[in-house]
Amino acid sequence: MAILRIYFRVLGMLGAEKRLAILLIGANLALAVAQFAEPVLFGRIIDALTGSAGDPSKVTWSQLGNLIWLWIGFGLFTIAAAVLVALHADRLSHRRRLVVMAEFFEHVLHLPLGFHTGVHSGRLLKTMLDGSSGMSSVWLSFFREHCASFVSLFVLLPATMFLNWRLGALLVVLVFVFGAITTYVFHHTESLQGEVETFHTDLAERASDALGNIAIIQSFTRVEAEAVSMRRISDALLKAQMPVLSWWAIAAVATRASATLTILAVFLLGTWLFMRGQATIGEIVMFMNFAGLLVGKLESTVTFANWLFMLAPKLREFFDVLDAQPGVRDGPGARDIGKLTGRVAFENVTFSYDGRRNAVKDVSFVVEPGQTVALVGATGSGKSTTLGLLHRVFDPNGGRVAIDGIDIRDMTLTSLRANIGVVFQEPMLFARSIEENLRIGKPDASDAEIALALERAQASDFVARQSDGLATIVGERGRTLSGGERQRVSIARALLKDPPILIFDEATSALDATTERLLQKALEAATQGRTTFVIAHRLATIRNADRIFVFDQGQVVETGSFEELVALNGRFAELARAQFMAEAVAKDGIAPAQ
Ligand code: ADP
Ligand code: MG
Repeated sequence: MAILRIYFRVLGMLGAEKRLAILLIGANLALAVAQFAEPVLFGRIIDALTGSAGDPSKVTWSQLGNLIWLWIGFGLFTIAAAVLVALHADRLSHRRRLVVMAEFFEHVLHLPLGFHTGVHSGRLLKTMLDGSSGMSSVWLSFFREHCASFVSLFVLLPATMFLNWRLGALLVVLVFVFGAITTYVFHHTESLQGEVETFHTDLAERASDALGNIAIIQSFTRVEAEAVSMRRISDALLKAQMPVLSWWAIAAVATRASATLTILAVFLLGTWLFMRGQATIGEIVMFMNFAGLLVGKLESTVTFANWLFMLAPKLREFFDVLDAQPGVRDGPGARDIGKLTGRVAFENVTFSYDGRRNAVKDVSFVVEPGQTVALVGATGSGKSTTLGLLHRVFDPNGGRVAIDGIDIRDMTLTSLRANIGVVFQEPMLFARSIEENLRIGKPDASDAEIALALERAQASDFVARQSDGLATIVGERGRTLSGGERQRVSIARALLKDPPILIFDEATSALDATTERLLQKALEAATQGRTTFVIAHRLATIRNADRIFVFDQGQVVETGSFEELVALNGRFAELARAQFMAEAVAKDGIAPAQ
């Protein structure tokens, strides 16, 4: 069963705690044995007493002494084992929970952007928290309880057959009945519970999506509508959950009923065997005790099965993420290439997201160190994908990308990305201070370096105006700054890294003209002496480029300087007329080159 595989996988993930785990398993074994030993000793003492046939003078302490000492011995042993388990099971599971969570987090950070665009962050967060606390409760309950139960059920119970095989066999039959009931309910509800879990995750995703877009929800007066759609998911969830609960309630009732039947059956069979001389009174008492013990264990096992069953989908989601392999990884021969000069070559590069349609088709070009290249073309023509291939968000399906003549797949990812600064369209900032956000570019940057980067990014003035200067916290995703300010911080961040290659993916397209002109200066300063790729729609940015690549349906259809391309009067001229001639004339009064 898949659920058992998940269970064993969790139990196997004890990492550095393996030795303690083995010790705890030992303690559990001892506890299980001790629990079974008590009824045996009790039964033997009763047999000794009843064997005297009502003549007290026949009973001697020396006869009972050994049994009583044994009993005391077992009692003390049980206390020691119980103390060990109580002290360490909790600690172990808490420690492991945090370790597993950290591992999951690191793994997720390594997964490619392609993975993250497909999965909502709210969903991942829930999977991480639910999965790791679920695992911790699996360990805890295993070491506190279930390990001992399993030993009792699968080892000690069959061993009772040696004490009285007829009564023992009755108990074994009972365990099978319980097993059958539980398995039946399992099969009936497994897929249903998977559905329930999907609703839970939808709920988390929906909530975090709404919280991330509070401004939209309020301004579009969507509060009511969002709340309603949330309730709709909860209703669907409850509707799916109810039948599962009913099935497990039936299992619980059946368990309870067969428990009563069992005790009665042991008593009746015992009495009958006694009358035929095939069982002693001590044995009847012993097996009545076993039956009580067993019923307790079975009930807790059914509860456990039910609980594991509810937990399994959460753990499965956790493992699914954990098993996702980063598509882009360091190859076996990857090496640290240090600082590059920035000669970028695309050689017949082809890439497809879905394996059917090529987003980038047979693209070839060479850009010399220090050159600035503008990528233009309609949306969806493959500009971002091309630059994504340069910093290995994904690898090409055909052809190769080389920097300074080295295939970028032969470089370690860390050293490749250390050489490339990216300024995204959405200037993503952390909800930390401006300084911390900048230091992401270079953790050990000196104050002078930070000041210089801010200066170049035209950001010094507004940072100085902030209430706490560099120490100002910028809010989630940098919300407390304006778009232009955010963008300048993110340019400063890229500059601090001092990379030989810079990428601006529509970094200025969301800004107003005044802000953009400010940024334009920042860009010019930033691109000095670096190979720069700019995706832009504005004339000013494009005119400053040394070369322009015109994209159409994943291919580079024209290349050249602004003047050359206008003179060519082809695709670029057409784009130019549509996009920025009007803009140029109206706003800047810049006449397009002839
Ligand atoms: P541009 O940056 O020029 O607007 P893109 O490189 O983003 O274009 O997109 C090129 C093509 O690839 C488009 O058809 C787009 O729909 C597709 N595409 C982009 N990103 C993804 C993605 N993450 N998954 C699937 N298809 C994508
Ligand atoms: Mg794009």
